[in-house]
This record gives sequence, C-alpha cells and structure tokens, in this order.
Amino acid sequence: MKKASARECGSREGSLSLSTSLNALIPEFRPFARALVDAAGAAGLMPRVTSTLRSRAEQERLYRHYQQGLQTLPVAPPGTSAHEYGFALDMVVSPMEALTDVGRWWESNGGVWGGEFHDPVHFEYPGFALESAATPFEPSLYDKVLNFAISFVPLVGETQLAVTVLGFFLPGLSQSTLADMIENPLLHLERWAAVQQQWIG
Ligand SMILES: [Zn+2]
Repeated sequence: MKKASARECGSREGSLSLSTSLNALIPEFRPFARALVDAAGAAGLMPRVTSTLRSRAEQERLYRHYQQGLQTLPVAPPGTSAHEYGFALDMVVSPMEALTDVGRWWESNGGVWGGEFHDPVHFEYPGFALESAATPFEPSLYDKVLNFAISFVPLVGETQLAVTVLGFFLPGLSQSTLADMIENPLLHLERWAAVQQQWIG
C-alpha cells in the first residue's frame, strides 16, 4: 500500500484509529458493503476499508483535524456524518485513481458516492438523512433501498438478497424465518399480506 493512499484515506494513520469492521455497519448495509469490497478485490484494486462506524468523539477529533488543515478530505460536522450512524464506509484502492470507476459503479447501483462532494473514498448506503437516522427505514425510503438492493442480485445471491429486503419490512423476524418465507410462501400468507400492505401503503 502506498504511503500516499494511507494519508489520503483520512483517518487516518497516526493518532486516530477508527473502526474498519464491516460488522459495525447497519445490518442492511453489510451484504452490499462486502459486495463492494469483493468487487474491488476481484478487479485487482487491493481494496482496504479505512473507516466504518465512528463514535461522536472520533468524529469530533476528525473534524478538528480537518479544521486545522491536517485532513485533506472533507469531514462532516459532528452529529451529521453518515459514519456515526453506520451508513458509510471509507475505502482506498490501488491505484487511487480507480476510485472514480468504483464510485461510478456504486452510484449506478443506487449507492451514494463521496466523489460528488470531493470525498472519493466515501461509499454510503442510500437513504441516509439526519431526520431518518433514528428510524432509518421509513416507508418513503423503501423504493430507494429496494432499487439499490435489487441491483446487487448477481453479487449477493438471490435468496440472501430477498432475505435482506424482506428484513426491512419485517424487522422482528429471524433470517431463517425470512428465508422460509421465500422458500415456502404458502406457509406464510399472513406475513406476506403484511409485507404487501406496507409495500403499497
Ligand atoms: Zn466517509
């Protein structure tokens, strides 16, 4: 990994050590985050995740660094970053120029890419907004999220994808119950009716 990449990625070496685990992201984002990293790896770009979930304190420190000019990439004010809610990850690749291709690909699938706001390492799950962060899956976001999820069918696998999407509608159910709904829909007519109601409503 080139030194420049580590500096550009923002955290990023040195005094700040941020969470880089994909498991720290909101569960709905994880399969797509893995697909993103896998796709970059399959393209030979040696992806490295440099930041996922941040605490308020970490965001405050990053923001101070940014205000002091120690941070080349933009940093959102504390309390407003998608990273603080598990909706974003930062990833570097080699060569760094390839981030544009990866970002365009992420965007074409319905994801939010930071290249649009001078932060090319930033990859965000669709639908993040401060007012929705407390309750991320308002019905108005379903279309956006569904379109995003559906675009990943070949990468994530259809059953896993359907389980992920169904989980938005029926957050109380286990993954195995959701999988059974897909495999044996006639045994779960009431649940499907509930999904359909939310979908339409
Ligand atoms: Zn970011």
